[in-house]
Amino acid sequence: MTSKPLRLRPIYLVVVGAFGGAAYRFSNRPPSSDASLNPNTFTPYTLVDKRRVSSTSAIFTLRSTYGAAEPDSVKEAWKRSLWSLQIKQPQLQIARAYTPLPPTEEGRAEDDEEEHDVRLLIRQEEGGEVSTYLHRLPEESTIELRGPNVECDLPHDIQEVIFLAGGTGIAPAMQVAQVLGRRAGSKMHLLWANRRREECVGGLSDEVLVPHNRPWWKSLFGLGQSSAAQTTVEDHKPQAKGIIVQELEALKERNRASTKGLEVQYFVDEEKTFIKPGDVAKRLHLEASRENGSKMILISGPDGFMEYWAGKKVWAGGKEVQGPLGGVLGKMELKDWTVYKL
Ligand SMILES: Cc1cc2nc3c(=O)[nH]c(=O)nc-3n(C[C@H](O)[C@H](O)[C@H](O)COP(=O)(O)OP(=O)(O)OC[C@H]3O[C@@H](n4cnc5c(N)ncnc54)[C@H](O)[C@@H]3O)c2cc1C
Repeated sequence: MTSKPLRLRPIYLVVVGAFGGAAYRFSNRPPSSDASLNPNTFTPYTLVDKRRVSSTSAIFTLRSTYGAAEPDSVKEAWKRSLWSLQIKQPQLQIARAYTPLPPTEEGRAEDDEEEHDVRLLIRQEEGGEVSTYLHRLPEESTIELRGPNVECDLPHDIQEVIFLAGGTGIAPAMQVAQVLGRRAGSKMHLLWANRRREECVGGLSDEVLVPHNRPWWKSLFGLGQSSAAQTTVEDHKPQAKGIIVQELEALKERNRASTKGLEVQYFVDEEKTFIKPGDVAKRLHLEASRENGSKMILISGPDGFMEYWAGKKVWAGGKEVQGPLGGVLGKMELKDWTVYKL
């Protein structure tokens, strides 16, 4: 597979308005054909596999077109960070961030080439420029990547994480599970919300949920009581498991050996199961004696999901920053838990 060297003029793209702002700078250095992944120039990768997860999302597997080795920056990122890559849409000269999924056991057991493949869970946004472009690409297409970009470093002494994920926010959650798998004694609670079951077919929560006819905020139950607490029966019929569900189960298995475990709860809007404040509150263990080590609540998902749980991120000095803690978590007593918006 060959790739034409690109000569890019510096282009500044600023997205403003309801979608916030972002600036991308393309270097005018032509990428060298054998360059490995780096944050400054775009490096060619080949789309070797595209596996459908649902009607709107798929896992894209990308392999370095020139067989370049995985750079140390990526090896380091896998040890302690949540990180992303940028993909370029060459006709429009715009770029978007995507979050690599951790390698599977299968990938790790394979030869070096597969071990270093980049896997991305990409949802096709209706009317979205880059995601629509990517979903239309056939296998063997060239896709240009730039990175890694570290979004957040997990503290060395991390002890417990509550991760609130909405939709493709599951990708950074899987990165956290992978990092915590290396931290003996750590514990992770993953609460994953999707609009439709097709995103998480066959996923069974560690605590069984019962459907609510109305979202929690319209129901009689509120803070301090979770949907799981009312459960008496298992509601799900056995189903073939979706790809992401299978990967979550593999992560659970991997983490079981060395950590206090990965607990997964699935919430599906169309089944009327919603994450409620009580689901978070009961996992904070505020009454427990303070143990050593840090505790984090991480949130990743669509803008509305983020705003509801923790308030908006804000723009300052040309970059997106955390902003004040708002939303539901802003009203809860969190004691020594730190909140981070992804
Ligand atoms: C750090 C980070 C990591 C990410 N990781 C992932 C990931 O792993 N997987 C993933 O799928 N996504 C991820 N994203 C989101 C991703 O970067 C893109 O934002 C997403 O794919 C949409 O980009 P797009 O170009 O397709 O859509 P855009 O063209 O940016 O449009 C986004 C939405 O806005 C609407 N829109 C655009 N313009 C207008 C307008 N003028 N008026 C009204 N509506 C409009 C579109 O219809 C669309 O629904 C991540 C984002 C960040 C910041």
